[in-house]
Amino acid sequence: MTWAWRHTPRTSPLYPAGRRRGDRIRGEVAHRRADTVQLVSDFDDLLAANREFAASFDLAGFDGVAKAGVAMVTCMDSRIDPLHMIGLEPGDAKILRNPGGRVSDQVLVALVLGVNLLGVDRVLVVQHTRCAMAADSEAQLRERVSRASGADASWMTFRVITDQRADIADEVAKVRAHPLLGERAAVGGFLYDVDTGLLEQIC
Ligand SMILES: [Zn+2]
Repeated sequence: MTWAWRHTPRTSPLYPAGRRRGDRIRGEVAHRRADTVQLVSDFDDLLAANREFAASFDLAGFDGVAKAGVAMVTCMDSRIDPLHMIGLEPGDAKILRNPGGRVSDQVLVALVLGVNLLGVDRVLVVQHTRCAMAADSEAQLRERVSRASGADASWMTFRVITDQRADIADEVAKVRAHPLLGERAAVGGFLYDVDTGLLEQIC
C-alpha cells in the first residue's frame, strides 16, 4: 500500500531520532521515498518476499493429493526441513507439525483424511535430537514460559517427552491402532539427528 506524500517532521513520533530508513515499526508510516510514504506493517518484509515468490510461481495446477503418498508428523523445530530430508518436493507430502512431533487428536484427523482421501500410504512419525520438548520437565517448561512471558503459565499442559524413543513407539502405536489408519498405511517412527541430517528408524 502506498500513501501520498505528506510532510512529517523528522522529530515526530513517526521518525524518532536514530531510526534508520527501512526500520520495522508496528503499524506506522516509516519509509520515505522521493514522493511517497509507504505503510509498514509487521509483515511487509514477508509480503515483499511473497511477491517475488509469486513472480516466478510454478506450483499452480496441483491438487491436494500427496503425490509421493507420504505424510510426516514432525516437530515445529526450525532446524527441520521435512520435505528435503527425504528427497521430496512441494506437492509430494502432507506435513503435520507441532511441538515434539506428537500424534495429537488433530494429527489423527489429518492422517485419516490424508490416508483415506488424499493418497497417503506411508506415515512417518519423526522426532529429533536436542528437542526442547524432551529437554525439560513439565514443571521446568512452565517455569521457563512464565519467566519469559511475565505471566502465569502454571495452568498450561505442554506434554513434554520424558523418554523420546518410548514416546516415538507410543505415537506410532496410536496411528497403527486407529481403525481408519492402521490397516491402510505403513507407519514408521524415526529420530532425526539435527547435527548430521540422518534419520534413524526406531520402529
Ligand atoms: Zn523439537
